Amino acid sequence: MEVKGYIHSFESFGTKDGPGIRFVLFLQGCPLRCLYCHNVDTWEIKDKKMVMTAQEVMKEILKVKGFIKTGGVTVSGGEPLMQPEFLMELFKLCRENKIHTALDTSGYIFNEKAKKVLELVDMVLLDIKHINPEKYKILTSVDLENTLKFAKYLKEINKPVWLRYVLVPGYSDDEKDLHDWAKFASQLTNVERVDILPFHQMGKSKWEKMKKVYKLQDTPTPTKELIDKAEDIFRSYGLKMLEK
Ligand code: SF4
Repeated sequence: MEVKGYIHSFESFGTKDGPGIRFVLFLQGCPLRCLYCHNVDTWEIKDKKMVMTAQEVMKEILKVKGFIKTGGVTVSGGEPLMQPEFLMELFKLCRENKIHTALDTSGYIFNEKAKKVLELVDMVLLDIKHINPEKYKILTSVDLENTLKFAKYLKEINKPVWLRYVLVPGYSDDEKDLHDWAKFASQLTNVERVDILPFHQMGKSKWEKMKKVYKLQDTPTPTKELIDKAEDIFRSYGLKMLEK
C-alpha cells in the first residue's frame, strides 16, 4: 500500500529554505511546542489540510521543475521526521528525477528511520534552538539531547548542513549561551553556513485563531545591535554567515 503524507501546504517558489529557488513542502505534525512557533496549525497530524502520496506530490514538483533547477525541494513542517516513510519515498523520487533535496528539522526525532531518511536527502537545515538544556526545554517543551546527537551524527556521515538559530530577546540572546552555541557549532565540520533568524510576531494570529495562549506577545523583535552582536559572536568561532 502506498504511504500517504499528511500535508499542511506547499509553496512552489520558496527562497528562504535552502539554496536557490525551491519547492517547499510543509508536513503536518510536530512533537515540539516552541513558544515562538509560527506554524501552530501544523502541530497536530489530524489537522492536516491534504493527504497525498509521494507520487502525487512529485507531480506537483514536476510542474515547476524548470523554475527550481537552481534549487530543489525542501521538506519542512511541523517536524517532517514524524512521517519518515513518506519522506523516504519522496526523496527517492526526487533522486530519480535529479532534484536536490533538503530536510528542515529540529533534530528531535533521532532513530533508525530518521537515519534512513538522512541517507536519501542531500542536505539538512538543522534548527538548534538553544544550547542550554533547561532553556531549550522552556523554549520548546522537549529535551535538547536528541538534537545534539542528531547534529553529531550528521557530522559523522558528513552530510552538508545549514544551521539555524532563532534569536529571541529574553530567551535565546544571552551572551554566554551564544558563545556556547557557536562553540558547539564550530566543531561540526560539515556545517556550511549558519543563519540567524530574528524572532518576529508574525505567528501570533495563528495562536489566537487556534485558541492557544501565546506567551511571547510582549517580546520585541531583536534590535539590529543585538543581531549584529550575535552574528559577530558566531563569526568569531569561524562560522560562515551571510555577508552583511
Ligand atoms: S519545531 Fe517548528 S513547527 Fe514545531 S513547534 Fe517548533 S517552530 Fe513550530
